[in-house]
Amino acid sequence: SMHPDVITALCEYEDRTAIQDVHGEHTYLNLYNRSLALQSKILKTTSNRSLKEARVAFLCPNDISYVVTLYAIWLSGGVAVPLSKTHPAPELEYFIQDSESSLVITTEALEDKIKPVAEQYSISCLTLEDGDFLGETEPDIKKKGLVKKDILRRRALMIYTSGTTGRPKGVVHTFGSLHSQMKDMIRAWEWTENDCVLHVLPLHHVHGIVNVLMTPLFCGATCYMLPEFNARNVWKCLMSSVPIGGNRVNMFMAVPTIYAKLIEEYEEADYSSFITDAIKTVCSSCIRLMVSGSAALPQPVMDRWTEITGHVLLERYGMTETGMALTNPLHGERKPGAVGTPFPSVKARLVKLNEDEPSGYDVLVEGVKVLPAGKREVSNVSADGKEGLQGELQIKGSSLFKEYWNKPEETAKEFTQDGWFKTGDTACFRDGVYKIMGRTSVDIIKSGGYKISALDVERHLLKHPLITDVAVLGLPDMTWGEKVAAVIVVKEKCDLDLQTLKSWARKEMPPYQIPTVVEFMDKMPRNAMGKVNKKDLMKEVFIDRQS
Ligand code: ATP
Ligand code: MG
Repeated sequence: SMHPDVITALCEYEDRTAIQDVHGEHTYLNLYNRSLALQSKILKTTSNRSLKEARVAFLCPNDISYVVTLYAIWLSGGVAVPLSKTHPAPELEYFIQDSESSLVITTEALEDKIKPVAEQYSISCLTLEDGDFLGETEPDIKKKGLVKKDILRRRALMIYTSGTTGRPKGVVHTFGSLHSQMKDMIRAWEWTENDCVLHVLPLHHVHGIVNVLMTPLFCGATCYMLPEFNARNVWKCLMSSVPIGGNRVNMFMAVPTIYAKLIEEYEEADYSSFITDAIKTVCSSCIRLMVSGSAALPQPVMDRWTEITGHVLLERYGMTETGMALTNPLHGERKPGAVGTPFPSVKARLVKLNEDEPSGYDVLVEGVKVLPAGKREVSNVSADGKEGLQGELQIKGSSLFKEYWNKPEETAKEFTQDGWFKTGDTACFRDGVYKIMGRTSVDIIKSGGYKISALDVERHLLKHPLITDVAVLGLPDMTWGEKVAAVIVVKEKCDLDLQTLKSWARKEMPPYQIPTVVEFMDKMPRNAMGKVNKKDLMKEVFIDRQS
């Protein structure tokens, strides 16, 4: 059964555990009633008038205080703008200013980071006391604050993009688009109220808020929130058989770098075979689903994870603007390097952009159907010699965002005339599934007539036994237009020279994909979501370092 909206959903599961965190267990009843109490406090700041889609920025730790604040903002009619404590002051300033927030909410622990910024812009700042999110509440639900009318069309959440390709853009979602995303995940991954997901992600991106927090709360499941990612703690939680409100942790969702760090922790521990067997048995019998997304999942990580836990990671693709768009199947084969097929309500297609005539394009693939008109010359031949159609990935459907905040022209620019959202990502379609080749603007390297996917080159290079991380980019070149450059991290205490790498690469990958420039780094600069900002990396390694 599906609920009309996220708020009424909370009222359905009264005594079940909604959140487990550092403070203990919190039932749906606790969560709802505390949100209602905080709503009154918020409305006092506006003389009891609904916020009418005014933005409310909030900075809270990853625990019940975040969740109560989120729902209280919604009950007050506001648009929630989640901030992160990892943002430096100038970023926080930008988000508060850009979103034109009229109120800031925080907790005592984080007040120092945000209150001065709010004061600087004369915005009121409400600091929560422990009682606001931990207090005892009435023993039953008072449905008085419930918003129902037209709720799906209202603006609910504004999330800033990761800023990988430019200044972060404020993406506005309505209750309706969030509802559609949650319904899709519930159907595709078969969420039920018996699930309990372990949450270790930042709470200012879709992955952390929508996939791992709102979705379980929408279907009566439990979200087990850790205050931050810590590899040892995650292993402990995955292995612990202690049930939370009747449910044991049975789902986990993270970004590729988190899986890599968990593997590192496991390897360093150097367990006996008795322990490694136990880990595998517990993970494979007690956990039903482990998901990876937000950045490409390297195959060595996927393979090692399977050896350790018995789980084949389910990789999916999404964006702030689209929510989750493509997913590998829950049942059935999960192909390494691929991101599967569209979620139930999502329409996806691949188009060949016509460079001579920007408004014209050919549709190559729609959904999982290759169109007869598909032009064969826009194909991609991968290392195994198989051919797939390649083009820009475009998305349509009820999960799409409403707008970039305050940027009507930018919003319009990202849609085709017939309403498809241009993701800016290049994808390839082959054997019935999509594969992400990278961002068209930075990951598709044009070299001597070839269009080389940086992600494809990275996938190849990661097969080298000494390479632990890599980022590939295109450098300007007089002869070739662009040349393939790789920034490589090698295993500790290992050496790898360009000649050895090249002769290995000649056996592994097409000649035009082999990097001609290689630079080494001790550690790849990846953000909390596991993404590399290639423009920054280019500057750091190939401009600043050389001068
Ligand atoms: P900005 O839009 O500010 O430049 P961003 O695009 O990184 O930042 P997000 O919306 O957080 O911000 O990330 C979406 C992007 O992440 C996608 O466009 C895609 O390039 C990448 N991505 C997400 N999932 C995957 C995946 N499974 N494999 C490869 N890339 C992925
Ligand atoms: Mg983007």
